[in-house]
Amino acid sequence: MTDPNTAFINLTYRCNNNCVSCIMENHFQDDSGITWGKVKDKIDQISKRSVHIEFNGGEPTLSPDLFRIILYARSKCKEIGLITNARVFSNPKNVSKLSRAGGDALKVITTLYGPDAVLHDAITRTPGSFVEQMEGIRNIIREGIPVELRVVLNNMNMESVPDIVNLIKREFSPDSITEVVMINMKPFGRALSRSVSYRVTEAIPYIRKAVVSFNGSGFRFHLRHFPLCVLPEGIRRFSRGITSEEDSISYIRSCDSCDMKSACPGIWNGYLKLYGEDEFGA
Ligand code: SF4
Repeated sequence: MTDPNTAFINLTYRCNNNCVSCIMENHFQDDSGITWGKVKDKIDQISKRSVHIEFNGGEPTLSPDLFRIILYARSKCKEIGLITNARVFSNPKNVSKLSRAGGDALKVITTLYGPDAVLHDAITRTPGSFVEQMEGIRNIIREGIPVELRVVLNNMNMESVPDIVNLIKREFSPDSITEVVMINMKPFGRALSRSVSYRVTEAIPYIRKAVVSFNGSGFRFHLRHFPLCVLPEGIRRFSRGITSEEDSISYIRSCDSCDMKSACPGIWNGYLKLYGEDEFGA
């Protein structure tokens, strides 16, 4: 589902977390314009050009129409991704409804921010979010729904990457997780700040540790949104996908002569605003 043709539909601006690194400025925007009818129309349009569709937010599970939207999407698209913090799925009844709606087409995509409640809840600024999310993920796996785990880096959790990897290896089996994806944070919204972001070259030692730790574990591990020239050669093969957010990325002048450009996800525009282009260039 990392196909650049993947289409996203935002089901709400609201969220039950309040993450420091959220790419939205706030969760109090009026979302009364996101109606069942409009979402249905978007699904119809998207299904004409793509077999993939992903639902996000805000937190999409806060949409009162979530299950009928997924059921309808299933009648139109072969693959459905639900990008969620999974907290509502700590209630097994919600997982059963999700499974009935999405069937075999569905995959859940969820992000872990820390190896424990202390760090995860500090980043989500929501006490209890870690415990609920872990319970939600376990319930989803028990129901047989595929789960993609994401680790989005920020300057609070970068050094904890080895512990996050250990948590994943300890709590889940490679059979139940379609892939673990480490993501270079998009500096946008609240995350467009040096207090949340990091220099991407500083993340490399921690990425390397994750690669070593997952090696031979059976987990499929990938990197996303890291410009290829900052990744050591032996690690580049873990990079997957170019971005579907063309308006949010740039290629700098030295990219023009770069052999890797066609496979490179580019550089976040927000990153260039915060840190410039010194770290890049093949
Ligand atoms: S020089 Fe540009 S195109 Fe080449 S890897 Fe770096 S960011 Fe990507």
